Amino acid sequence: NELKPYANEPFTDFGMQANQEAMETAIAQIKSELGRTYPLKIGVQMIETEPKITSINPGNLDEVIGFVSKANQELAEQAMQAALAAFETWKQVPARERAEYLFKAATLMRERKHEFSALMLLEAGKNYVEADVDTAEAIDFLEFYGREMIRLSNVNEAQPLAKIPGEDNRLTYIPLGVGVVIPPWNFPLAICVGMTAAAIVSGNTVLLKPASTTPVIAYKFVALMQEVGLPPGVINYVPGSGAEIGDYLTSHPKTRFVSFTGSKEVGLRINKLAADTAPGQIWIKRVIAEMGGKDGIVVDETADLEAAAVAIVASAFGFQGQKCSAGSRAIIVEAVYDEVAKRVVELTEQLQIGLPEHNFAAGPVIDNISFARILDYIDIGREEGELLTGGAKAPGNGYYIQPTVFGDVDVKARLMQEEIFGPVLALAKAQDWREAIAMYNDTEFGLTGSYFSTDNDRIAEALDTIHCGNLYINRKCTGALVGVHPFGGFNMSGTDSKAGGHDYLLLFTQAKLTSRKR
Ligand code: GLU
Repeated sequence: NELKPYANEPFTDFGMQANQEAMETAIAQIKSELGRTYPLKIGVQMIETEPKITSINPGNLDEVIGFVSKANQELAEQAMQAALAAFETWKQVPARERAEYLFKAATLMRERKHEFSALMLLEAGKNYVEADVDTAEAIDFLEFYGREMIRLSNVNEAQPLAKIPGEDNRLTYIPLGVGVVIPPWNFPLAICVGMTAAAIVSGNTVLLKPASTTPVIAYKFVALMQEVGLPPGVINYVPGSGAEIGDYLTSHPKTRFVSFTGSKEVGLRINKLAADTAPGQIWIKRVIAEMGGKDGIVVDETADLEAAAVAIVASAFGFQGQKCSAGSRAIIVEAVYDEVAKRVVELTEQLQIGLPEHNFAAGPVIDNISFARILDYIDIGREEGELLTGGAKAPGNGYYIQPTVFGDVDVKARLMQEEIFGPVLALAKAQDWREAIAMYNDTEFGLTGSYFSTDNDRIAEALDTIHCGNLYINRKCTGALVGVHPFGGFNMSGTDSKAGGHDYLLLFTQAKLTSRKR
């Protein structure tokens, strides 16, 4: 049957009473399911372990989301064997059939959208809009990668070859093998689904090691894939510690690829471990890494300053700045610096802090480690700049921190160079727009950026000179849409694997040329 052309999942308008109520109903339902225990899934087996990972609500520390079984090396090895066995049959399943599992899952996820979002409010501390966008993106990845695999499997479409007489030549994209998928907690549904779906629809089988702070939403996705009939062993669900099973699986001779999204430090460690060759290993492992960012917004004196201030605040403080796309720097030309800074502070002070389930603009950060790290950076900021607003913990039984803005920060300051992954924004002053761009580029990262200007010549130059994977003009630097803004960055931001783009599935496949003499 005909596939509808790909289109992004629409976002929910919570201004409508009915939608607001639907979310509240979903929250109540998810609340009634809290505190359950969750098994590992290894092949056909569901395995309960002691000890467990306790997933809690970062906005209400007394609320347990669930107790999740935790794999050790022995169980990780079992999962590897299950994935290896499943690969032998899964790789033979036609692409269209593999894609159908994704489409079915997308349909069910769409029907139960608010349930998935409600769980993220509680487990990750997202507000309604942030959670809804996350779920919509997960649906998009399923729909998009399903179609991408169908496109890639069409030999004439994927890579048409030049013709010569007397031969039939074909290029096909075949899977790699068993992959370790290590998604982050900040888009605990979207990125988990995207990374996993891309790997399996390409014909690989995976060991999914969810983030330890958001394992329950990952389980909910795994359960959904089971519900749509995905064969056992294609996705094996193995939560556990990075040091114990992450390293073990990354170093495993049978691991064919590692797909990782998270911090620069962990990404580099994975890259290093994966570069070693274990005894019995017969390939070079592929590493697909989406790491950090020190993203920023450049504003010149011709810009719509109100729009720029709104975008700066949205980019810096959406989901408490816990996005690798977060605009944690704003570089503003001298002539308009004071005006923009003043407006940024006003807008930041309007962000109300509170429980995600009550849909406050600003919620908690993910855990005690982040909480302590961000507060340390705030202390560093007091030395490096002028505190314009925020700068402290906020009340509540969770990891609440005031949205914080520092002014007049030097381009070389740690606040301008290091990824904080929290609600801390540094403002810097440039003499002119070219200097502002140079300051933007003065970073080891290169993920997202945006430039606010109304001068077409400058914009044309900026499109060339601002060095990042996702460059936006006159809009915020977060919120890439699947299929519309393929997402991934340069330098220490990772391998520039463009999630949600046409090139992405190539990372999970290898091309085979066959040439037959007539
Ligand atoms: N794709 C997301 C965005 O454009 C960010 C993903 C991330 O933070 O890892 O905002």
